Formats: sequence, structure tokens, C-alpha cells
Amino acid sequence: MKKKQKKMLVRILVALALFIALQFIPVGGIAKWILYIADYLIIGYDILRKAFRGILNRQVFDENFLMAVATVGAFALALYQRSDNCNEAIGVMLFYQIGELFQGIAVGKSRRNITELMDIRPDYANIEVDGKLEQVSPDEVSIGSIILVQPGEKVPLDGVIVEGNSTLNTSALTGESLPRDAKTGDEIVSGSINMTGVLKIQTTKEFGDSTVSKILELVENASSRKSKSEEFIAKFARVYTPAVCYSALALAVLPPLVRLLMLGTTPDWSVWIYRALTFLVISCPCALVISIPLSFFAGIGGASNQGVLIKGSNFMETLSQVKTVVFDKTGTLTKGVFEVSGIHHNQMEDAKLIEYAALAECASSHPISRSLQNAYGKEIDRNRVTDIEEISGYGVIAKIDGVSVAAGNSKLMNRLGITYQDCHSVGTIIHMAVDGNYAGHIVISDIEKPTSQKAIASLKKAGITKTVMLTGDAKKVADKVAADLGVDEVRSELLPADKVAEVEKLLKNKGDKDKLAFVGDGINDAPVLTRADIGIAMGAMGSDAAIEAADVVLMDDDPLKIAKAIRISRKCIRIVYENIVFALVIKFGCLVLGALGIANMGAAIFADVGVMILAVLNAIRALQVKNL
Ligand code: ADP
Ligand code: MG
Repeated sequence: MKKKQKKMLVRILVALALFIALQFIPVGGIAKWILYIADYLIIGYDILRKAFRGILNRQVFDENFLMAVATVGAFALALYQRSDNCNEAIGVMLFYQIGELFQGIAVGKSRRNITELMDIRPDYANIEVDGKLEQVSPDEVSIGSIILVQPGEKVPLDGVIVEGNSTLNTSALTGESLPRDAKTGDEIVSGSINMTGVLKIQTTKEFGDSTVSKILELVENASSRKSKSEEFIAKFARVYTPAVCYSALALAVLPPLVRLLMLGTTPDWSVWIYRALTFLVISCPCALVISIPLSFFAGIGGASNQGVLIKGSNFMETLSQVKTVVFDKTGTLTKGVFEVSGIHHNQMEDAKLIEYAALAECASSHPISRSLQNAYGKEIDRNRVTDIEEISGYGVIAKIDGVSVAAGNSKLMNRLGITYQDCHSVGTIIHMAVDGNYAGHIVISDIEKPTSQKAIASLKKAGITKTVMLTGDAKKVADKVAADLGVDEVRSELLPADKVAEVEKLLKNKGDKDKLAFVGDGINDAPVLTRADIGIAMGAMGSDAAIEAADVVLMDDDPLKIAKAIRISRKCIRIVYENIVFALVIKFGCLVLGALGIANMGAAIFADVGVMILAVLNAIRALQVKNL
């Protein structure tokens, strides 16, 4: 419990004790009134102050105002009726404060749970200084420093392991509970927990750019992007509260006036004023105002715990309406780790051709480039390479030892006016030209991710009506992958701009309510990620472009998580709607009962607090998404 909540609890207990005592103390008249007012102020002074401030700031119609008017009104009514029974005003205020306290505790607790679940922020980094370990704050460590991570510690910064072997627990990042092995030379991301061995890591990023910081930033900003339902609630409150206040006024004034003017009988002011005040007490829309954002917060928290980062409540809503899923191939459905499977029509030694290819690719971040560099296997001397130009969707051109080299697909060869030899193998073909002459091609092949086929199947099971694969790769490879995985449609040999055009066509040909998701790895497809209704990025572990451009990020590149993300979003949205409907139905029911004089103030508050607690409990269900 927070300090503020403890203070509130004390106030509630004191006020409650005095309230009970007042029922038995044999005083009357002025003395009793003074005690009543004292008790009322003990429990409600802050509400009165907030209401008064609201009026000064011209934001009159909030729940503090409603409570203040209703309770002060109840006092006035007692005075008018010359009764010295003011239990109602105090009782209502007491109940309201108890409800607020409960809600504060519940909201605080669930927020804390969510943050705890995502407890990935490292507290310190160990640096070796003169043979001794020193703990420093992670944001003081510069790129290229060597840090030491002991077993049980969180990895504070992204880097490469320079010494040691260990097992890593990445569950806070990916939701994946199986530990991962890590050895010298492996890249390591911050936020994972080192379980067994001591690791020496050379950092490759500053803390602000490290994976943990990116994730935390994303999740912290997520709640500021409001969804349609949240906007609806805000608009609703702006119209609703004044409407309720005027209705209450009408309820207090009109029926007695009708009686006076039309029927000519004595007006029953106190009855109707009392009903109007009850009506006001009932009207607070707090269950909605609190439970809707909390539902989204819980949903986003639960998803991130499963390795699915959703950047805002608005994307949660769109994700739940997805009917078409469009995929990129390389790095998304396939691993993007190519192996050389053949070298044909070679005009030089095979090793020489690979060397040229690897050197030319030395600055590219495309999976093809990484694979060719791996195939070369030796240290790359970047001083030998100049004038590098990467052309998205085509390949690269560079000068190596002063000789011009081109490596890319047939489109690149056409563009350079070089005649090339077609290849009959199924695979991604890297044509090479050296010094303006065709020098042969390297056939590389990629493998499908082990979960891709299951991912497509589970999307269909989740009611996705259309799956499409778009790729810049050759038709033969594309058709084979699509057939293997069971993708409905496939378009191949596309340039990045063609992918945007294809997605635009698909966007035009679908229903308004159905949404289209594009899933990519951020390499050559960032524009499509932004163009789709919702962009889902793979490769959060590597590609910064993807994290920037996407609305949803899958932390472990597992395509199975797409269907999971959709199911999580649907559950969250369902809970949001349940809460909206539940709160509104009960609210309107109570309002009608209050206006008819069937529900009194106490019953009204009781119903209100009850609805709110149920709505908050329901919201917390959005957190439980593990087995979806
Ligand atoms: P995908 O849509 O499968 O992810 P890309 O759009 O990234 O593929 O690339 C399409 C094609 O362009 C590749 O299959 C390859 O032929 C060629 N290409 C792109 N970048 C490179 C590169 N760095 N080196 C060689 N070829 C490349
Ligand atoms: Mg790609």
C-alpha cells in the first residue's frame, strides 16, 4: 500500500468510528450538526477541494463535482426538512472513498504486476578496472567496452561475446521458456539473463540504443496511442457528464413545477430534489473510465510477456480485425540464412568468385550479404572495397582492388547491360559481373523456418481468409516455398516499390472493416510495413528499421506468434467491449431506478463500486494470454 492509501485508510476508519458514534451520542441541535459536518469534512474534504478547483479551471463536470453536489445537496435537504439526520451524505461519501481506495489498490497492483512481468531493465554493468570488478550504471558504458556478466545477472547492453560459454534465459524478451546456448562470437541482446557461465561481452550499442531500452520505450509509449474505444469513452464523458447534470436539474425542478402549475397541488420539492441528487451520484462513469485503459494496458503487457510487442491500443484494435495477412519471404517465412549450393559458368576460381561476392557485400545488411560473407569465412579487409552502391531489390555494385564488381539478380544484370546465363537449379541466384563481364553465378538456398507451415495453418484456423506471399526472389523459389507452406497466393520478382503497389491493390480489394497485416523483416520492406493497416516486424533482435516502421514486433522472429498476436488482441478487445456494455447497462438501469425513486443513494453507490470492481477484475483477465 502506498503512503497516500494508508492516509486514506486512516481517514476512513476515523470517519467511520465517528459516524457510528453519532448514531448513539445523545446530542441534538447545533452540537449534532457540528459533529456531522466535522465527520463529513474528515472523509470528504479532498473531494470538495477537487470539485472547487474543477470549477475554477472551468472543468466543472467531473465525478468530484457530482459527489460534492450530491452530498452537499443531501445536507441542504436535511436542513430544509428540519431533520437532524445527515447519515446519507456522510454514508455516501464514506462508501465512495472506500471504493476509490479499493480501486487504487487494484489498479496499482495490476500495473505493478505488469511492470514486474516485464522486468528487463538492468541495474548495473560490471567493468573490470585494474583486475577488480566495478559496478557502473549501464548508460555510462561506451560502445566497444568489455563488460562482464556473471551467472544470474541480466545482460545490461547489446554486444558480442568475446569470452565464455553460457546458457541464456531470454523468456522476458521472447516469452520462450527454453534456455538458449551462447558461445564466444555470438551476438547477445540486453535483457536476457545469464544462467550458467561467466561471459565477457564487447558492447556494440549504447544503453539508449540497446534492445531493452527500445522495448521499454515502446511499451511505455504504447498507452499514449489511444484506440477508438478509448477515444469513444473520452468523447462520451464530455457529452455524458453535462447531460447527466442537466437531466438531474430537470428532474429536480420539472415534476414539482408540473404539479404546481398544471395540477394546482402543493409541489413535493424534497422528494424530487432527493431523486435528482441520487441520480447524480449514480451517474459517475468511473467503471468505464478506469477499466478500459486498464484492459488495454493489461493486454499489451500480457502480449509483451509472450514476445509480442504491440505499440499502442489502436493497433490492438486493428490487429483484432485482420482478415488478410501478407508476408515477405526472406527472413520472414524463411530463415534468411543461405547456404551456397552451387557455382556455375564460373570464369575464375570458385574461391575467387566468392571472395569478390563477399567483399562487394561487405556493407549490406541483407541476409544474402551475411550469408555470402559467411561462405567466404575469412576476415574482410574493407580497405580493398570502394564505391559501394546497394540497389534495393537488385543487388550491390562496388570496386574491389579498383576492379568493378556487381553481385545481384538478373534484373541487376539487365540494368547493367550484361548478358547472363540462366540457371536451372531452384534457388536464389546471385549473378556476378567483374570488370563489366559476366563471371558466373552463385546459387544459394534458404531454408523455411520450422514453424512457418504451422503458422499459416494456425492463421487459417483463426479465421484469416487470405494469405499472400510477396518476394523479390525468383519465381521458381517463391512458388516452391508457397506450395510447401500452403500460402494462398504468391507474387515474385518484385522490387520494394512493387511490393507497396501489390499491398495497395490488396487494400483496395478488401472490405472496409477487414484489415490487412503485412509481416516483414524490415529489410527492403519498411515502406510496406508502414503502408499496411498493420505492420508486423520480424527480426526485432536485429533490424532497427523494422522496430521503427512496424506497429507490432515479434521478438523471436517466430511466425507462429502472428496468430497468437491476433488471438491476444481479440481477447483484449472482447474484454474491453464486455466492460463497456456491462458498465453502461448497469449504469442506465440504476439511473432509471434512481429517477423513479426506487434506488436510494446508498444502493446507488454500492452498485457503482461493485460494477467498478468487477470491471477491473475483468480487465486484468486480459493479462492472461499465455495459453491462447
Ligand atoms: P524478399 O522479398 O524475399 O525479402 P528482397 O526484396 O530483400 O527479397 O530482395 C529481392 C532480391 O533482390 C533477392 O532475392 C536478390 O536476388 C536481390 N538482392 C537484394 N539485395 C541483394 C544483395 N545485397 N545482394 C545480392 N542480391 C540482392
Ligand atoms: Mg526481405
